[in-house]
Amino acid sequence: MGLPGHRRTSSHKHRRAAHFALTAKNVRLCPKCNKPALPHRACASCGTYKGRNVTQSIVVKKINTVKKTKKVAA
Ligand SMILES: [Zn+2]
Repeated sequence: MGLPGHRRTSSHKHRRAAHFALTAKNVRLCPKCNKPALPHRACASCGTYKGRNVTQSIVVKKINTVKKTKKVAA
């Protein structure tokens, strides 16, 4: 079984931990529902991106692909 070759001193640990800090997320407000949302992503609460609903189109596309695969299999 492998063993550590050298003692890890407290300064070694602290130098490594200097990069562990978390950065705050850049949050903007959704122009439609005014709730906080991440930039360049569809709003999690209303599902709009650039003024149009994108989650609805994803659901429709998924249903269409399921129908197509069923037709091919049958
Ligand atoms: Zn929204």
